[in-house]
Amino acid sequence: MKRILVTGGAGSIGSFVCEYLIDRGHEVIALDNGSSRKVEHLFETGRFKFVQDSIMNKDVLERQVQRSDIVIHLAAIADPKRYVTEPLNVLNINVKGSIQLLELCAAKGAKVIFASTSEVPGRNTQVPFNEEADRVLGPPSINRWCYSTGKALIEHFLYAYRQQENLPFVIMRFFNVYGPRCDDLGQGRVIPIFMEKLLGGQPLTIHGDGKQTRCFTFIEDACQAVVELALNPAAEGLCFNVGNDRETSILELAQTLIKVGQFESDIVFKPHVEVFGKSYEDIPRRIPDVRRIKSVINWEASTSLEDGLRKTIDFYRDWAKQ
Ligand code: UDP
Repeated sequence: MKRILVTGGAGSIGSFVCEYLIDRGHEVIALDNGSSRKVEHLFETGRFKFVQDSIMNKDVLERQVQRSDIVIHLAAIADPKRYVTEPLNVLNINVKGSIQLLELCAAKGAKVIFASTSEVPGRNTQVPFNEEADRVLGPPSINRWCYSTGKALIEHFLYAYRQQENLPFVIMRFFNVYGPRCDDLGQGRVIPIFMEKLLGGQPLTIHGDGKQTRCFTFIEDACQAVVELALNPAAEGLCFNVGNDRETSILELAQTLIKVGQFESDIVFKPHVEVFGKSYEDIPRRIPDVRRIKSVINWEASTSLEDGLRKTIDFYRDWAKQ
């Protein structure tokens, strides 16, 4: 039995991760600055503690790290709208907050499981993205790149801390995770945005021609991978793509959502991508090379897009009734 701190533990990914860890017999502390709504069902297990605070609060963070064998670090600003409207907050929380956490974990000897992103390879056009591929990030004058640059920097810190201070780590690069509990309507992610429009009877807006692709990864699959990567010693010291390698165009996504949910909405095309009135460079294709995660922990995403979207639509329909 391990004691595991999950930062961002009350978020969509965090809440599933906490649940699966408890199911596997571990004790979990969730540190999150949001509400405990998504994790309330875990209190009755007797193996769950919720601390409502920010990772920027060093005293609180230190107390919880001191109690933990493993820290799964999910807390971050991960909302594309905020990359362009409040880049300073994104950098402070995602970079300064993470460095502070790594320092505390190195002092304690707690293993860090870090949530990175499939945005780290950036504009690299060689798909599928191998974990060791070059990063091609845009310039610092374009704030859109602050998120991926921040995550890439923390990846560097992890390798450095491991080399010089023996900090054990695992890096996870998530590929477009979606599904139940991602009830962040109004944020910049395509599936919540489309769901909000479908439920409101509005047309779906596609940026560009809709031929750009993503690999949508069902949240429950992704969270099973997180737990296995955290607990399996073979994963230590490595970076992993956590993603489904089925490529889906945004047009196909829109059509599949409409079909699976039997919605009546139209699809409209908008010539260029704008987030809050600022131009936002789109990535044409983003596909994970899944060989490493398959060979090290024998994981692959098993939920089909149709099944995942069906569960997602059910979740949002219930959510909209509340
Ligand atoms: N997208 C779209 N319409 C929307 C929101 C997003 O066509 O209303 C597109 C967006 O341009 C991108 C894809 O959907 O090509 C995925 O966008 P998201 O922001 O969810 O994730 P990311 O670009 O970081 O993969």
